[in-house]
Formats: sequence, C-alpha cells, structure tokens
Amino acid sequence: MELPEREAMDFDVVVVGAGPAGLATAIRLKQLATEKGADLSVVVVEKGSEVGAHILSGAVIDPVGLDRLVPDWRSDSERPLRTEVTRDEFLYLGASSGIRLPNLFMPKLMNNHGNFIGSLGNLCRYLARKAEEAGVEVYAGFPGADVLLDDAGKVVGVATGDLGIGRDGKPKENFTRGMELRGKYTIFAEGARGNLTKQLVRRFALDEGREPQKYGIGLKELWQVAPEKHKAGLVQHSFGWPLTNRTGGGSFLYHFEDNLVAVGFVVHLNYENPTLSPFDEFQRFKTHPKVRDLFAGGKCLSYGARAIVEGGWQSVPKLAFPGGCLVGDAAGFVNVPRIKGTHNAILSGILCAEHVFEALSAGRAHDAVSSYEEAWRASLVGYDLYRVRNIKPLWSRYGTLAGVALGGIDMWMSELLGRSFFGTMAHGKPDHACLKPLAEVTPIVYPKPDGVLTFDRLSSVFLSNTNHEEDQPSHLVLADPSIPIRENLPHFGEPARLYCPAGVYEVVYEDAEKRTDPRFVINAQNCVHCKTCDIKDPAQNIMWVTPEGGGGPNYPNM
Ligand SMILES: Cc1cc2nc3c(=O)[nH]c(=O)nc-3n(C[C@H](O)[C@H](O)[C@H](O)COP(=O)(O)OP(=O)(O)OC[C@H]3O[C@@H](n4cnc5c(N)ncnc54)[C@H](O)[C@@H]3O)c2cc1C
Ligand code: SF4
Repeated sequence: MELPEREAMDFDVVVVGAGPAGLATAIRLKQLATEKGADLSVVVVEKGSEVGAHILSGAVIDPVGLDRLVPDWRSDSERPLRTEVTRDEFLYLGASSGIRLPNLFMPKLMNNHGNFIGSLGNLCRYLARKAEEAGVEVYAGFPGADVLLDDAGKVVGVATGDLGIGRDGKPKENFTRGMELRGKYTIFAEGARGNLTKQLVRRFALDEGREPQKYGIGLKELWQVAPEKHKAGLVQHSFGWPLTNRTGGGSFLYHFEDNLVAVGFVVHLNYENPTLSPFDEFQRFKTHPKVRDLFAGGKCLSYGARAIVEGGWQSVPKLAFPGGCLVGDAAGFVNVPRIKGTHNAILSGILCAEHVFEALSAGRAHDAVSSYEEAWRASLVGYDLYRVRNIKPLWSRYGTLAGVALGGIDMWMSELLGRSFFGTMAHGKPDHACLKPLAEVTPIVYPKPDGVLTFDRLSSVFLSNTNHEEDQPSHLVLADPSIPIRENLPHFGEPARLYCPAGVYEVVYEDAEKRTDPRFVINAQNCVHCKTCDIKDPAQNIMWVTPEGGGGPNYPNM
C-alpha cells in the first residue's frame, strides 16, 4: 500500500541516539557555534520514550570526557554523579570460594580511583538538559528507522518511524507518517549493534580490512540493600565461577548513593555451548557464598540487559562515509578490561563534533569527514584502546585463567615499555559462528529461581517496565521463518530461547510431552532492546529493527 510522502525538516546536523556519544556530539557542536558566533541547527532523535529510558550501563565512569564537555559539572548542584570510588576489589571465584587479587598486581589503567559510580541513564538526562539549554532540539520517542540517501548514494539524513501501522502492515486510525530529518551531516550514535549503523557498515564496507566486531551481553539488576551492608564507593569485579574456563565474562558490583548497589554480569558472546543461558548464569552468580549475603534483606528494584562491544582497536570500522560519521559504541569504543565505554563515547562525540564543525565552517556538506577518521587513533580514545588491544583475543584463545594472566602481563608491558609482545592479535570468528552443535557439548542445567535472590525472566522483565504497542508488525524480523525449527532446533536446541534475556523466543510443541509439531514463537512485546539475537543467531537470520517510537524498556535509573 502506498503511504503519503513524509514531511521534511532541514538541519545542519542530525544525530541518531541520545546516549553519551550522541549528546556529547550535539553539545560540542553548539559550544563551537557559540564560540565562533555561528548559526547552527542540531537535532537529536532517541527511540526511548524519554532520554535515558533505553540506557543501561554499570556504571563506573571515568570523568575524563565529562570534564572536557561540561567543565563545571562537579560544582553543579544537579550533577548526576556523586559517589567517588573509594575501594577497588578484584576476585577470582571458584564454585564455593574466592580469592582477592592484590591491587598491587593490577596495572595502573585498571585502577578506578578518581572515577565515579552512578546511573548512566541519569547522566544522559543531565546531558540532554545541557543540550537543550545550548539550543539543541532533542526528540525522544522518535526512532531513526531509515537512512536517507540522495541519488549519488550519499547519506542526507534519517526518516523517523511511522506511528500506527497494524500487525497486518496496514495503517490504523491513529496512523502518523514519520518525518524526514535532513542534515548536511548525520551522526550515528546508536550504541552497540545499531540497526542503521549495521546497514551503513554494509553499504559503505566500513569493516573492510578490520577484524570482526565482538560483543558481550551485559545483564544488570539495581538493588537497594540493607544499610549495614552498603559501602558507598566500593567497586568489585569478579571472573571465574559460574562460567567455565572456556567462557569469558565476569561480574560487577558497584555501591553508590541511597543504599543502591548495581550488580551485573557480562558473558562474552563467543561462548560455545548452545545450552548456556547468560540470564541464568547471572542469577547463579548472586548465590555465590562471597556475594549472596549482600542481598539478604534487600530488594531488587530494576532489571535490564544490553549488548556491549568488545572488539576494540582492531575491530573499529571506518568512521566517516559520505554524509555521516559513527561515534561511541556504534564505532566500537569500549575498553574491555576496564568495562568502560562512556568516557570514549563522550570523547569521540567531542572529536567528531570538532571535525564536522570545521567541515561545515568551510561550506562543505554530505562528504566524508575523513579528518575525524584520521584523528581518532592518535586521540585519547585511540590511546585507551591500543594499550588493551590483545586482552580480549588472549582471553578467547587461552581461556579465563591463562588468558587473564597473560592479559595482565600484557597490560604491564604496555604500561612499562609501551609495547606488547603479541603485536596486534586477531579475534578470529564472529560471535555467531562460535556455537558448537548440541551433540558436542554437556548440557547446562540451571537451578530454579527462589523469587527472593534469584528470579525468572518474566518477573525480571516486569522490573524493566518494558512496553510495546501490541498491534504493530514485529520488530524482530526473520529473513527465513523456517530456519529456527528446521536448522537451529536440531543443531543447537534453538539457542534464542536461552540467550534472549527477556524470554522473547520460545519453541512450543503441539504435544509438549511427545515434542511434536514444534513452533517458533516471538513475544516481541517483551524485548528489552539488548540486540543479542541480532548478534548471536547462528544463521544470522534475526534482524532487529526499530519498533514504534517509545516502545521498549523504561529504565528509571540504569
Ligand atoms: C552491562 C554494561 C555495563 C557497562 N558498564 C560500564 C561502566 O561501568 N563504565 C563505562 O564507562 N561503560 C560501561 N559500559 C559501556 C557503556 O555503557 C557504553 O560504552 C556507552 O553507553 C556507550 O554510549 P553510546 O552513546 O555510544 O551508546 P548508548 O549508551 O547505547 O546510547 C545509544 C542511544 O541511542 C538510542 N538509539 C539506538 N538506536 C536508535 C535509533 N535507530 N533511533 C533513535 N535512537 C536510537 C538508544 O536508545 C540509546 O539511548 C557498560 C555497558 C554495559 C552493557
Ligand atoms: S529479542 Fe533480541 S534484542 Fe530483544 S531482548 Fe531478546 S535478545 Fe535482546
């Protein structure tokens, strides 16, 4: 059916995504315009119902980026980061014991002193206010649904999603056509595995000559713990149990204000066992004797999950293409051993803004801002990623114990000698190609949740305040609807049932006992937008696209 033409609005710069990277880009552009007395229009679109609604992070934040972007934030009475790190602990966990690694052994770059613990969602809300004060137009509830290209194939903006399309693909009574937001430059700040970024990487071959991007899934709960158990400023990380030596990942526990503790677990998505469930590994982690007591008498307030980029230096795609640039996690700027990307998201936003502003000032538009591409490796972002470029490949190749030990030595060598014995290691296979067939693995059996310390998926999704309009086309699109049952089920037991942290995917049988006539069911309304299915499906058959604006989780302070 033919839809009406979209209305168009013109801007100098269009930014897709109101995370720290997108907001930093927008704020810096406006700062530069004010400094130079230039007139510059900047718009930011965000798919969440409000800024911060889809943001999920740890978060221990290195303030180096924020200090540059908002120099006076520390004296601002509305500052969102108030708890400075006071204690930093690293644990290696066995099934019933754990040892603390002496801080003396830890390379300096792993030190968290001087960093702040808080909610990245709240930091984004703060940055959005700063952006609006500077004159940026910020529109939440508007997903960038399509990239707009001109006849020469250059990016000229994005179209926001239509509202009011029914499940049958036909316009409903409340149908409203999306808008065309046209910009001289369009900055993609969608975070890990952005759906428009994915299209751009393909269209402009931005990953040519790069290692495949690698990912983890991060799951998080926010707890209010008993006051006597709370230690504001304490940061704990662990690796080891409940994961096997062949599976990378680990936990974080961050104590910040109001007796709040952020507890989370990251599983590297190159895991091999298709019966592994990152959600259940997280639940199991909380039962460890070194950890469980913290939660006694406390309450879980919120839950969510999000993919995190892990490829680092060697996987960063080309950042500039005709009419646009990538910033933040969309560009792959996470320092994996530090589990930190916020500082680089902000720093890359600043860097990109400076180069885009220069291009605009020279009267340019719709070309590739290649000076940004040329600058990032020599910038603080490049320095941060280069030093740790071998940590993830070492972990993947040698397993947790040997990999973490070698990684520690490698970080010390980088720190002391400025070089690595390993050169620059390759990542090897993309994450979706790492699963072994069911027949080659020992199935993992998880304990049942107790509803007090450990939970099931659906009660957890309830705490994420996830909501989607039910009468709309599914935003989880199968390229070939027969693959889940025809290929994934016999070979891998259909792993989507287990890697999805929100219980979106099920295999249901006509006769459950005899397991006859299996059907693949997609409960799209539960999706928390973590993007794991788009990454890990072994057939690369699941495509995550933006649902109707405002749909998804409504995280209050994750
Ligand atoms: C579990 C976990 C723990 C972490 N812990 C830490 C930590 O302790 N410290 C740290 O520094 N970093 C941490 N990180 C990494 C950090 O969160 C990211 O590096 C950072 O959020 C990247 O910022 P960004 O702006 O690039 O992307 P994001 O923060 O992901 O923001 C992207 C925004 O764009 C929006 N968006 C996406 N697609 C569209 C679209 N098509 N249209 C409109 N809007 C769109 C999203 O809704 C979102 O609001 C952690 C990450 C995870 C998952
Ligand atoms: S459907 Fe995909 S994106 Fe949504 S929660 Fe599940 S794994 Fe994440």
